[in-house]
Amino acid sequence: MTEKQKSCRTAVFSALAVLASAAVIHYAVEKIDSAVYVNTADMEADRKIIVLDSGHGGMDGGCSTADGIPEKGINLSIMLTVRDMCRLYGYDVAVTRDRDISVHDSGVEGIRNQKVSDMENRLELFNKYPDAVCLSIHQNTFTDPKYSGAQMFYSSANPESERFAAILKDLFVQNLQPDNTRETKLCGKELYLCYYCTNPAVMAECGFLSNPEEAAKLKDAAYQQQVAYTLFSGLGSFIGG
Ligand SMILES: [Zn+2]
Repeated sequence: MTEKQKSCRTAVFSALAVLASAAVIHYAVEKIDSAVYVNTADMEADRKIIVLDSGHGGMDGGCSTADGIPEKGINLSIMLTVRDMCRLYGYDVAVTRDRDISVHDSGVEGIRNQKVSDMENRLELFNKYPDAVCLSIHQNTFTDPKYSGAQMFYSSANPESERFAAILKDLFVQNLQPDNTRETKLCGKELYLCYYCTNPAVMAECGFLSNPEEAAKLKDAAYQQQVAYTLFSGLGSFIGG
């Protein structure tokens, strides 16, 4: 990247920070073209691509708030804002889904088989680009409603994933949750996408839908934008570092 490009990106980043602090990001991102898949034909050889996943979708709602709002829509809303911020900043972005769908192959029958196909297709995109940074966006739940706060999961498949997770966790604390003491955690095979991704990857559980106060925030569009900005900042910081 040339100095001119760097200073341009720095200027854009500063502008984004001002916009976010004024809580008008939504206005800005509405102005951006919302085409889905990136044209990588003119990608520079050393340029990273950001791959974003909004968890669940279609018949799979994921976890829900007490009043029945599923995480799939919250994940999608946050992801779409992260995507638009990344594009505004000049990154190439690919996403696993940009609407309320399961990502399984057509013709696959049965919910179980569709779920397997869905996860395989998401993983294929996560591992498609050799120099990608991958982020999967989810919400958490627990039987006891007292628990709250974002938590990051990473796998040992790529040694950079732990650093990426630590950056995101620190930004959640700094921007949104000063009392959050949750540790970033090494994931197991149950987090299929995260576990088998060979690029730097984090699964971000942005908060607990089982906690009424946090669920109310996560349903709120302005808070979703703040979460999105935190994730976007983490991506920028990880790539820049
Ligand atoms: Zn989930």
